Amino acid sequence: MTSTEERPKIAILGGGIGGLAAAAFLRAKGFDSDVYEQATALTEVGAGLVVAPNAARLLRRLGVLDRFVKRAVQMEVGWEFRRWENGAVLSAENLQGECLRLYSEHTYAAHRADLLDALRSAVPEHSIHLGKRCGSVEFEGDQAVLRFEDGETVRPDILIGADGVHSRVRNAVIGPTRARESGICAFRALVPAEKAPDFARRRAQTLWIGPDRHLVHYPVSGEGYVNLVAFAPAGASSIESWTATAALEELLDEFAGWDQRLVELIRAAETPGRWALLDREPLDHWNRGNATLLGDAAHPMFPFFAQGAAQAIEDGAVLALCLAADPDDPIAALERYEGLRRPRTARLQEVSHGRSHINHLPDGPEQQARDLAYSQADPLRANGWIYEYDPEGAVS
Ligand SMILES: Cc1cc2nc3c(=O)[nH]c(=O)nc-3n(C[C@H](O)[C@H](O)[C@H](O)COP(=O)(O)OP(=O)(O)OC[C@H]3O[C@@H](n4cnc5c(N)ncnc54)[C@H](O)[C@@H]3O)c2cc1C
Repeated sequence: MTSTEERPKIAILGGGIGGLAAAAFLRAKGFDSDVYEQATALTEVGAGLVVAPNAARLLRRLGVLDRFVKRAVQMEVGWEFRRWENGAVLSAENLQGECLRLYSEHTYAAHRADLLDALRSAVPEHSIHLGKRCGSVEFEGDQAVLRFEDGETVRPDILIGADGVHSRVRNAVIGPTRARESGICAFRALVPAEKAPDFARRRAQTLWIGPDRHLVHYPVSGEGYVNLVAFAPAGASSIESWTATAALEELLDEFAGWDQRLVELIRAAETPGRWALLDREPLDHWNRGNATLLGDAAHPMFPFFAQGAAQAIEDGAVLALCLAADPDDPIAALERYEGLRRPRTARLQEVSHGRSHINHLPDGPEQQARDLAYSQADPLRANGWIYEYDPEGAVS
């Protein structure tokens, strides 16, 4: 420890969902932290995400669930798979009652900004430093050193790299990692609810699956919008960021010939963002010296189980618990954190990867076998290993 204070000086690089969740859980355990975020305002560019019960339980534990559900939409139907050409329902989860009974919490869909707002409400203002772009992360022995573009240098007792998929902290901890083009890109867009067809305004997480493509939609923002995420061949698109946009016509072209109702939903969308999905193997370690990784910096995953943000939130909860259990030996606490989190997140990376094949099958015998399997499946129970995770149980 280089600090003379009783509690370690904790720096979190990145003020996204993972960084704020970590700061909030640390705060709940009596640790102060400094969150350094390059953006000048804490915001998430327009789109939604599903918050499964494993994440919702943690929001409740932080005391922010009530704030979150003011704008989040409680799902009544989950994983409703539909056939691309006619919307035939292949399978659907009835979440009403069941989700609460099995996992003590509901499943929600929300705008990312609403999730970020809820997490931020559990972090003291003085902890958040905006407009702080980190230019380099280096190690002096086991000591991580952050150099910001405004000239400031920070030498924390503990560094948490929550700086997303292009993480600088990961580069410093692991060295450069390989990312392969997956051949898939994601489009995402919002549709104002008044322009959306009735079927898309239902409180349902609906997935239309077809050859080489699938499209997911659900209502968000107090049901004021329908969020739409579509996956299609990447073509020339290679930018792994929502800063890239696409013309609505490109998205319409991708789904030409699909069920007309779906085409009408797409036609009502605002300008889509486009994100090329890059493929990364699970890492074999996350720690170096006094630094560790969290969220997408540690375990970027394809979004096909809708668990990336949920896992980032779990990471924050487990990390805070490990530090609280071993405050005098933070390096041992970081090791324990990595040991607890790496296997679970690697498994999610792997199963999420597998869905890119199964959801995009061309019509034929394999697709028919898949549809039959989906019709007999019970994902709410089959995904129990995801939804019932309890960080406190894991740590104790
Ligand atoms: C199409 C799609 C759909 C998804 N759907 C879901 C879903 O339904 N449910 C779900 O749970 N997850 C979903 N995810 C995954 C989820 O979005 C991510 O896992 C989650 O946002 C990761 O959070 P993070 O905080 O680790 O990273 P990020 O959200 O990327 O945050 C990183 C932060 O670090 C900051 N930063 C980066 N570099 C620097 C620097 N040098 N200096 C200072 N700050 C820096 C960035 O500005 C950013 O604010 C989806 C992902 C995609 C692509």
